[in-house]
Amino acid sequence: MRLRIVKYGDPVLETPCEPVPEGEFGTPELRSLVSDMFETMYAASGVGLAAPQVGISRRLTVIDCTGGEDRSAKVVLVNPTILSGEGEQVGEEGCLSIPGFRENVARPSTVRVRAFTVDGEEQELESEELLARVICHECDHLDGVLFLEHISRFKREWIKRKIRNLKKRGEWD
Ligand SMILES: [Zn+2]
Repeated sequence: MRLRIVKYGDPVLETPCEPVPEGEFGTPELRSLVSDMFETMYAASGVGLAAPQVGISRRLTVIDCTGGEDRSAKVVLVNPTILSGEGEQVGEEGCLSIPGFRENVARPSTVRVRAFTVDGEEQELESEELLARVICHECDHLDGVLFLEHISRFKREWIKRKIRNLKKRGEWD
């Protein structure tokens, strides 16, 4: 089932998420949420989607840098923690909750993350390039942080002003 993607301005996007409780690991509800999140992300041509973006304030994110081309590229991170980030990459970033706006953002070039699987197994993942960028972006979402926080205040204010105008015209909801 496709879920509605929450847009910038909804407080859920700027609220730190609660961990997925252990008791929910492996449940049909968690599995179906993950599968709905993948479906929603693919339909929106995204490479990552965090639970708060579908209005659920839980530390859960789905990622696929191939956009569905390669099934083995599917990544699910439950209650992730970034252990380390090294180097730097600068590249264009967008967000399904802030459609139409893309800006250069600096991120570590390699990232090590620890997370649980849907079944509650602990895993560690080493990532680089685009995957490292997406992991940082999605883990930020779980802390209530948007990529707008990583760009200059001037650009941020410009984007916020544009969004306010879109809202006034009823083109942002
Ligand atoms: Zn995003």
